[in-house]
Amino acid sequence: YFSFLMVTQSIIVLLFFGATLIIFLSDASLRYQKESITDFLTGLYNRRYFHDRLKQIIHTSQRHLSPVTLILLDIDHFKLVNDNYGHDIGDQVLKGVSKIIQDTLRVSDIAARYGGEEICLLLPHTSIDGAKLLAERIRVNIEQKTFDANGKSFSITASFGVAKVEMSSTPDNVLITADKALYESKENGRNRVTVADV
Ligand code: GH3
Ligand code: MG
Ligand code: MG
Repeated sequence: YFSFLMVTQSIIVLLFFGATLIIFLSDASLRYQKESITDFLTGLYNRRYFHDRLKQIIHTSQRHLSPVTLILLDIDHFKLVNDNYGHDIGDQVLKGVSKIIQDTLRVSDIAARYGGEEICLLLPHTSIDGAKLLAERIRVNIEQKTFDANGKSFSITASFGVAKVEMSSTPDNVLITADKALYESKENGRNRVTVADV
């Protein structure tokens, strides 16, 4: 009877440690998975993840004929923010802009940090008109936000390019089209949204 008790007790202890180990490992693996697709500074998705999703979503949209749009956003004269207030404040601005975007998007939308101060938004089930409205809303929210640099307050603006996924689109050419529209926004005075010609 005594040895039966010992065996049962050992089994219970082993099961307990086994379960704890599994919980620990799966938690670590989830964390690792999340970190591998996230941009460290802004908490947005990273560029690699964005590309993967862009490929998938374009494919699905072309099969189901559902509209998908892409918005490319670039902070205006961001180099001046770093030059005038320092790199740390520049980082705060990037975080602030990312927060505005995350607060404005739908859960099915995908926002990624595409380059230094360039952010890319992928909007499934969204027409060009919807995307334009959304970009305009984000533009105004960015323009109205004030940042603080050692007691001095300042604000920034951003420029936008909007492109639609077509039947013949590839990830690269949607990005190029959005980038051209963004370039037009910059050329025409910044702090504006340009929709790419179809
Ligand atoms: P434009 O209106 O034409 O876009 O001008 P810009 O100054 O925003 O563009 P430019 O490409 O000349 O400068 C981008 C700057 O972004 C330069 C770079 O130092 C800064 N930058 C890139 N990544 C980061 C970052 O992670 N943190 C900070 N603080 N700055 C960054
Ligand atoms: Mg840029
Ligand atoms: Mg810029």
